[in-house]
Amino acid sequence: MLDLKTQYMRIKLEIDSAIENVIQSFEFVNGSHVDKFSKGLADFLKVKHVIPCGNGTDALQIAIMALQLFPGDEVIVPAYTYVATVEVISLLGLKPVFVDVDEHTFTLDIEDLKKKITPKTKLVIPVHLFGQCADMEKIRSIAQEFGFKIIEDTAQAIGAEYYFSNDSHSKAGTIGDFGTTSFFPSKNLACFGDGGALFTNDDTLAERAKMIANHGQKQKYHHEIVGCNSRLDSIQAAILSVKLKYLNDYTKARQWGAGFYDELLNNLSGVRLPIRASYSSHVFNQYTITIDDMVGVNKESFRDHLRRELRKLGVPSMVYYPRPLHLQEAYFSSDFPKNSLPVSEYLSKSVLSIPIHTEMSRESMITITKAFYVAFETSLSAFQKKLHYSQ
Ligand SMILES: *Cc1c(COP(=O)(O)O)cnc(C)c1O
Repeated sequence: MLDLKTQYMRIKLEIDSAIENVIQSFEFVNGSHVDKFSKGLADFLKVKHVIPCGNGTDALQIAIMALQLFPGDEVIVPAYTYVATVEVISLLGLKPVFVDVDEHTFTLDIEDLKKKITPKTKLVIPVHLFGQCADMEKIRSIAQEFGFKIIEDTAQAIGAEYYFSNDSHSKAGTIGDFGTTSFFPSKNLACFGDGGALFTNDDTLAERAKMIANHGQKQKYHHEIVGCNSRLDSIQAAILSVKLKYLNDYTKARQWGAGFYDELLNNLSGVRLPIRASYSSHVFNQYTITIDDMVGVNKESFRDHLRRELRKLGVPSMVYYPRPLHLQEAYFSSDFPKNSLPVSEYLSKSVLSIPIHTEMSRESMITITKAFYVAFETSLSAFQKKLHYSQ
């Protein structure tokens, strides 16, 4: 799904010397390497404050803590996302209120958001899933009208651009009260381990978030609020400073790959290719197709079959995500029974992500798509045979 090795080999000298510098400086925690990266990322995003932390899940948790919600407060969150987005809400004693997603963009459904608002709604967490923004202008105006806050989960969309109706634009993660991201190796800006950050333009929120990430202290051994310990390692920060220089190129490489897939897979009936929302660029953390409904065919077993055929031909694929969060045991609630979030449930049975990364070549993409056509045909005829015999 990824080619981190080729990416590393291209910048090996720079990365190795950055790591060597950290070792020579013996500044392993905090200090100049982390400051330099935070400043670089803030410039890139055009945001006032970047607060580095241990991972993308911590970034969400610290952002929510900084907003000072109370137990029982409601947080609206898509049911179709990675578990981290919801996990932190429950961990902090808040109530996740699941909202459905748009079937084309896979991001938060605005009409369903309006239906889920109650007097207890204090926060919404739109997720810029697979590399494309949720419709932030609409979400922000609803949040302003009803007086709740916004944290943008930007773990999959660092570098994406949101276009406002007045022709201005902002980087994903800098529009709400907080943006959060992850530098996990599979993300678009990735380190060699765990890492994360949160960003905000609000001075007061930034100061609180910084304190929270550092045991609730500004001054050593003066703990004003309850915090946690969440830091970005200096070695990871130094690696990220190098990779940040290439982020625009990496994004272009992913977009080029996605465009080429679009061309090559265009003639395959039975699958829907990812669409680009008019209000956002797409940085393609994932290239995710949707398999259409086929009469009499159990789509999940068809998809499993297709994945097995692909694997036989040497092509990996992944299902992000096979089960929406309201149907996960840890997050069951009578408020969100089966069929209550139909698009999330539909997508979890229909989606398939195929390899996309910064090192895609014409040849590899032609090989992958050829294999895809073959695997799709083979699976289709296997299922048609099954249908035939069962009739
Ligand atoms: C990866 C990811 C996270 C969590 O990031 P970690 O660094 O793994 O903790 C949160 N939200 C989304 C949407 C993600 O993809």
